[in-house]
Amino acid sequence: MSELSNLIFHNKSNYISSPYGPRKSMNTSKGKTSSFHDGVDYATYSVKLAQYPVTDGVVLSCGTDWAYGGAKYVWVKYDSLGVKMLHYHLDSICVKKGQAVNKNTVLGYTGKTGRATGIHLHLGLKKLSGGGYIDPEKWWRENPSVGSPTSPRKSEKPSSGKKYSPGNYKVTKANVLNVRSGPGTKYKKLTFKQLTTDAQEKIRKITGKEVNGYVKGIKFSVKETALNWGRTPSGWVCLDYCEVRK
Ligand SMILES: [Zn+2]
Repeated sequence: MSELSNLIFHNKSNYISSPYGPRKSMNTSKGKTSSFHDGVDYATYSVKLAQYPVTDGVVLSCGTDWAYGGAKYVWVKYDSLGVKMLHYHLDSICVKKGQAVNKNTVLGYTGKTGRATGIHLHLGLKKLSGGGYIDPEKWWRENPSVGSPTSPRKSEKPSSGKKYSPGNYKVTKANVLNVRSGPGTKYKKLTFKQLTTDAQEKIRKITGKEVNGYVKGIKFSVKETALNWGRTPSGWVCLDYCEVRK
């Protein structure tokens, strides 16, 4: 069991049956082989458990990998996390390419399609910025703020599921709203000095102090949105704590 797999299986029983990394050599008809396991395997005690997205995302692709024995798979892209995840060996697929998904969408059911000896999920993970497969468990541990369902951040949620449009906004539901370097809680918080001089002036005017973030009452423009995050002149903020200004 891991926090990551518990999100995917909605806390139904599972265990890591094979971690990411070099695999022990195996005896085959061709002699000893060793290989690199480019994902994590989670076994589900032979139960075809439903698999869910870890947060809001979009189905990048899904289908059957005929090059690998007919394995059924789904790729989910998470803009707020900066990664995409591969769910492999599914028994069945319940989503379509391009579909918006959330924590309660069944992506498919755990199976053993393709070259698998038992029912399990092979989970692959790649960064949206490029590069090959990385260790999903290690990535999850190193980005603890990305999606813990039990301990949402006080002033930010990974995603509310709401969508916003560019425009003018005002902070109304938080005393101090973090401004981040990207659209999600995994990105760095900006300090007062890193905000635009315009924002610094407004914060000083409202509070009389230097505060690391947008304070309640501050008005700002949003040029671009990603789920419930908006890009302001200083950086990204969670728009769930703001109101549209007309
Ligand atoms: Zn695997």
